[in-house]
Amino acid sequence: MLFKPQCYKIADVKGKPFIDAAEIEDIIQHTPSPDIKRVRDIISRSLDCQRLSMQETAELMAANSPDTIKEIMSAAKELKRKVYGNRIVLFAPLYIGNNCINNCSYCGFRSSNKLAIRRTLSDSEIVREVEALEDAGHKRLILVYGEHPSYDAEYIAHTVRITYGVKHGNGEIRRVNINAAPFDVEGFRTVKNAGIGTYQIFQETYHPELYKTFHPSGRKSDYSYRLTAFDRAMEAGIDDVGLGVLLGLGDWRFELLALIRHTNHLEACYGVGPHTISFPRIQNASSLNRKTITAVSDDDFIRMVAILRLAVPYTGLILTAREPAKLRDSLIEYGVSQIDAGTHLEIGGYSAATTEQNIHKEQFQLSDERSLCEMTDKLIASGHIPSFCTACYRKGRTGEHFMEFSTKGFIKRFCTPNALLTFAEYLEDYAAPETKLEGWLMINAEVEQIDDDDRRKDIASRLSRIKSGERDLLY
Ligand code: SAM
Ligand code: SF4
Repeated sequence: MLFKPQCYKIADVKGKPFIDAAEIEDIIQHTPSPDIKRVRDIISRSLDCQRLSMQETAELMAANSPDTIKEIMSAAKELKRKVYGNRIVLFAPLYIGNNCINNCSYCGFRSSNKLAIRRTLSDSEIVREVEALEDAGHKRLILVYGEHPSYDAEYIAHTVRITYGVKHGNGEIRRVNINAAPFDVEGFRTVKNAGIGTYQIFQETYHPELYKTFHPSGRKSDYSYRLTAFDRAMEAGIDDVGLGVLLGLGDWRFELLALIRHTNHLEACYGVGPHTISFPRIQNASSLNRKTITAVSDDDFIRMVAILRLAVPYTGLILTAREPAKLRDSLIEYGVSQIDAGTHLEIGGYSAATTEQNIHKEQFQLSDERSLCEMTDKLIASGHIPSFCTACYRKGRTGEHFMEFSTKGFIKRFCTPNALLTFAEYLEDYAAPETKLEGWLMINAEVEQIDDDDRRKDIASRLSRIKSGERDLLY
């Protein structure tokens, strides 16, 4: 990794964040709507798998004629197929505890919300939750925490280790990501040593003034400490990071450009961009004051996802069950590559008997309540391979390697075969008979399309070994 300490210093110690709000606002204000020729020029760079500059991204955002917007949308679709194929990676969030010292005004867990019902899972409860998730078929989790002195790096590392240790039937969690408040460098080393996959944290809003308004107290009120979290993570050797913004706090255009700027910063300083970007929209939450929210319309949201897809061709885009089923299904076409399924936000909710949402026990209200089983049926029906692959992380293909391998031929050699192998494991171990039937039809059709004879034979042989009970035969 190309760690250049000066980047960290510029961003942090000298108090000059790399995000310059005035510069971003200026670009948005002064970028005129491009004509179709210019839009095509920009799109051709994306389709050539080059990341777009802030200026180019701003031009796509400024496009306002039906023709140019249509062109952007269909290019996003094409790029999605080209880079990611027809696989969709599945995961589930696991909330460990909702104690929180912060007061983020949009969040049900905020310290001033007296209606919030607080709970932290005990070690044995974590085991029960992970068993329930494994029994549903999950292989990849993201553990989520409020910010609290009792959820320090040691504790988080401890919960990650517990999660990896749970083996139920053929089930195991092969990749544990975390979404937790930022650590100092030592803290990041501690969670890295526990074997985390991606370290995910959202800046919420990159606008410093707005940030102050929505984060009035607690450690999270320090904008710069949060902004430089990934720099400290990189210094600690974590090169697999997930950026994000919370849409509904300010102008989505500002946040989108800031995400590009943050991506540039990581690439320039460490030679590696983010593994994923998330862009949740604010949902209803316990005691939420809706008047403070600037809603992002569905149309703007869809456009934003398409532009982001074009702007960062190799970064995974995550869309969670916050969004309604129909919108999620359509955004998969325009660029989303990872989704959660069978999600329960209530702490202890995976192993609990009740499935009804209780807003005071959850961070926010969920829209898409489909089970993992229902989601796989839907993906199969729309021609997408449900993937439970965790191979890159486990084979050390993360960070700069991820970028390096995300070049020509990589998907054919690794991603599609691994998606098929992990999907086959799911079908054998967890699927309903009809899903199993449809799923194997899909797998067989995909295998037939593999043009390299040796590869095709090797995949077919691994698939029959999975049918006979072997597991974890990843490339
Ligand atoms: N507590 C840690 C933090 O704030 O960094 C961990 C993340 S928090 C549990 C997960 C994310 O949920 C937040 O970063 C925020 O973007 C999002 N979130 C909070 N309130 C939300 C709401 N009402 N609707 C949708 N997403 C929300
Ligand atoms: Fe706490 Fe995170 Fe919610 Fe803020 S977003 S109140 S830090 S849990």
